[in-house]
Amino acid sequence: MQGWKRGLGFIVLGVLTSMSLSRPAPNEQPSVGRPIALVGGMLIDGYGGLPFQDAVVLIKGNEVQAVGPVGSVPVPPDAYVIDTDGKTVLPGLMDMHVHLDILGHADYAYWFTKYRGRWLDLIMPIAARQLLMAGVTTVRDVGAELESIIEFKRRIERGQVPGPRLFVSGPFLQVAETISDYDKDFRWPVRDVADARAKVRKLVEAGVDLIKLIDQDRMPQEVVNAIVDEAHRHGRHVAAHAHREGEIIQGLQAGVDCFEHTGLATEPRYPDEVIRRIEQRNASLYWVPTLEGLYLYALTEQYPERLDDPRLKMTLPPDLYRDIRDSLRNVSQLEYFVLTKRRIPTLKTKFQQLRDAGVTLLVGTDSGIPMNFHFDSTWRELYTWQQLGVAPMDAIRAATFWPARLLRRPDLGVVAPGKKADVIVVDGNPLEDLRDLRHVVTVIKDGQIYVEDGRWVFMGEGRTK
Ligand SMILES: [Zn+2]
Repeated sequence: MQGWKRGLGFIVLGVLTSMSLSRPAPNEQPSVGRPIALVGGMLIDGYGGLPFQDAVVLIKGNEVQAVGPVGSVPVPPDAYVIDTDGKTVLPGLMDMHVHLDILGHADYAYWFTKYRGRWLDLIMPIAARQLLMAGVTTVRDVGAELESIIEFKRRIERGQVPGPRLFVSGPFLQVAETISDYDKDFRWPVRDVADARAKVRKLVEAGVDLIKLIDQDRMPQEVVNAIVDEAHRHGRHVAAHAHREGEIIQGLQAGVDCFEHTGLATEPRYPDEVIRRIEQRNASLYWVPTLEGLYLYALTEQYPERLDDPRLKMTLPPDLYRDIRDSLRNVSQLEYFVLTKRRIPTLKTKFQQLRDAGVTLLVGTDSGIPMNFHFDSTWRELYTWQQLGVAPMDAIRAATFWPARLLRRPDLGVVAPGKKADVIVVDGNPLEDLRDLRHVVTVIKDGQIYVEDGRWVFMGEGRTK
């Protein structure tokens, strides 16, 4: 009781102190070292239990220091207080499949030719900012030119560029036949076992966090095995495409950690034999189905106005916006989507098969692919899962708690004392309707405020993690 009263005193003091400070002038940020207190909202902490009402989340430095109901967590008098009353506080979202070198343009051959050499200074910073705006504080970039993505990751870590925490693969390892001239920077051919091991080592030495493998059904099994083995020797996980049955079978055989996508063809379901093998791995196998990008096609045909979203214009230089917008003039005629509409009816069954097989499903969006914009993708994936029957809490954990497990970063994905202060606030109750995740009002990453009142407020204070 004593403690509760004392705590309340701190709260009142904290709130009073903050009155004059809660609307900082445009150039002002809560200064480094000043605690941040999120006071009054509902907290979804990422662990999956019932949400907490009237919660206080106290952030000090780049960590969460205390979490508890209003009155039980003393708010220091110098704290920068953010009123979260009537809103929902949750861990920053983690998107496990993004491409920072693409921004939604419809023509890859054109894009990768025109913007070659501009990833680091022009394209990636835009993607990173769009993701942060949307409350995405951690991403896995699964395929980019090696030097650019490694340097970009370092710039974010050094605080030179605002962006989510990056876990990157660099180039895909794959067979030579499907590489064209425009995409050879992010596709490395693998010839044989020795070459496979050498290329994994080269990627690891450059600083990648994971290995991305595609076309493994077109490689001899021993080459696939060598890639996965070499990655695991160096403590890196392997993410592999699961577009074709053979990719799944050969990938499972080699011990791939995480599969991506749900198939390029229109087969109605995974064969029983494939499912049987997936079941043997069950929870230890991660899977990022990347569904929302497929639904976007019909959605954009119906509602092309979404291509004029002010957030798109706001985050792009005018000529870049024009370029992307023009490429999406005739959505119905885009070659990229020829089979998409026919794949849609198969998704429900395949997604359910994966759920029934017990794999650990993760949220990832393929954000950056045609008409799939980084500021608008992650909430859509969660909402798609809800439409396919997943409980909102489970979908949220597939974008917070479980990705942190795959990345072996238990300090991420939850809001709890001692964990990294990656916390967002959304207007509404995502446990009722995951579409509320598009109304992100506050974004804090690593204890630094990037978005407040739905507006970008980060001015480049630049603290490293
Ligand atoms: Zn992708």
